[in-house]
Amino acid sequence: MIVAASSINSPKLLMLSGIGPAAHLAEHGIEVVADRPGVGQNLQDHLEMYIQMAATQPVSLFSHWNLWGKGVVGTQWMLNRTGLGASNQFESAGFIRSRAGVEYPDIQYHFLPMAVRYDGQAAAEGHGFQAHVGPMRSGSRGHVTLASNDPAEAPKILFNYMSTEQDWADFRTCIRLTREIFGQRAFAPYRGHEILPGDEYQSDDQLNEAIKEHVESAYHPCGTCRMGAADDAGAVVDPECRVIGIDGLRVADSSIFPRITNGNLNAPSIMVGEKASDHILGRSLPPSDEEPWIHPAWRVAQR
Ligand SMILES: Cc1cc2nc3c(=O)[nH]c(=O)nc-3n(C[C@H](O)[C@H](O)[C@H](O)COP(=O)(O)OP(=O)(O)OC[C@H]3O[C@@H](n4cnc5c(N)ncnc54)[C@H](O)[C@@H]3O)c2cc1C
Repeated sequence: MIVAASSINSPKLLMLSGIGPAAHLAEHGIEVVADRPGVGQNLQDHLEMYIQMAATQPVSLFSHWNLWGKGVVGTQWMLNRTGLGASNQFESAGFIRSRAGVEYPDIQYHFLPMAVRYDGQAAAEGHGFQAHVGPMRSGSRGHVTLASNDPAEAPKILFNYMSTEQDWADFRTCIRLTREIFGQRAFAPYRGHEILPGDEYQSDDQLNEAIKEHVESAYHPCGTCRMGAADDAGAVVDPECRVIGIDGLRVADSSIFPRITNGNLNAPSIMVGEKASDHILGRSLPPSDEEPWIHPAWRVAQR
């Protein structure tokens, strides 16, 4: 059997089936089949916030942000599958390193040619643009636990966001680096004032205030049935996605990530499914000793 119900529902299903932290299962009157303390633990996510700038030229999607414009875009998409509706508009993205001493680019960017709330509910004052930015490897860890032994009841989800000092320092760095990018000469013909968080937010305390107000989930929960060695007490699945201590049961979704990926989760989640099916079919690729490229000056320079 293969469980692939997401990093929220896979641990829930395992716990309801008696696989999880013994004491927690006992609290809910569930008979323990395998005491796996790691089930539901190690919950991680990506947080992000957006830095919004006003544009001094009418170059953004704001021209289409009205009933007529939306109607035209929608019609074009419905009839021809073309036009602005054919894109999600997040067409440029990038990764940079936050500081010297970090081996890999640990900050992710997406650029949107409009200043608007992520849920599309409220556009900013006029033409503008924004960067969605966030650190990729937070040290914060949360958990998913059962609220009861009733399968119809939602589990309790606690992310423990921003629970380390480094999380705050990393987000302040994100804001300051984004300001530096938007301050480049290439942006000069278009750059208006900073809408969000706003020029008045400069000191560490002020930036912390802005982060607290504006940071939001990128919807990347993972890690709650983490993979590890069969003798790792905190691991839930072994390197072939088999639930440790149970025969004939695998987990194959984003819950098995030991550590959140350094980028969005959809493709890595699909890869987990592909890799698990290879293991089941006994078709694994030969081992590779390819190394990722690492900037030679990573220890001493941010760029
Ligand atoms: C709003 C939003 C935007 C996102 N945008 C991006 C993006 O732009 N790029 C990106 O890479 N990632 C994005 N993600 C993240 C990505 O979608 C997830 O990380 C990925 O889908 C996780 O895959 P999964 O297989 O672990 O879980 P899921 O994709 O959630 O699959 C779990 C499946 O199990 C089913 N299920 C749950 N419980 C049960 C049950 N009891 N019985 C039977 N079936 C059950 C669910 O219906 C679901 O089909 C986004 C996520 C959200 C929510």
